[in-house]
Amino acid sequence: MPIYEYKCTKCNKQFEVNQKMADPLLTECRVCGGKLKKLITSSSFVLKGGGWYVTDYPSADRKKAMDKKKEKKAEGKDETPTKKDAAKKEAVKKE
Ligand SMILES: [Zn+2]
Repeated sequence: MPIYEYKCTKCNKQFEVNQKMADPLLTECRVCGGKLKKLITSSSFVLKGGGWYVTDYPSADRKKAMDKKKEKKAEGKDETPTKKDAAKKEAVKKE
């Protein structure tokens, strides 16, 4: 559901509203009844979307998680040639 941001032109209060695409846009301030202006929410959308944006600035926890992934990958690399060698030896025996 897209988030729409409105700003009241009268009292300058900002609203964030979860709306369906089909819902009509808000035009009236809930607080003072003033006229609402719809804001472009691209900047806040990036922050709220999260995930991919955070990778540019990894936190300590995220770094730890990344290190764990690297360790797992390294283990996998060690395992692969061993298995291949075993398979080769078996093939040799069969011949
Ligand atoms: Zn207002």
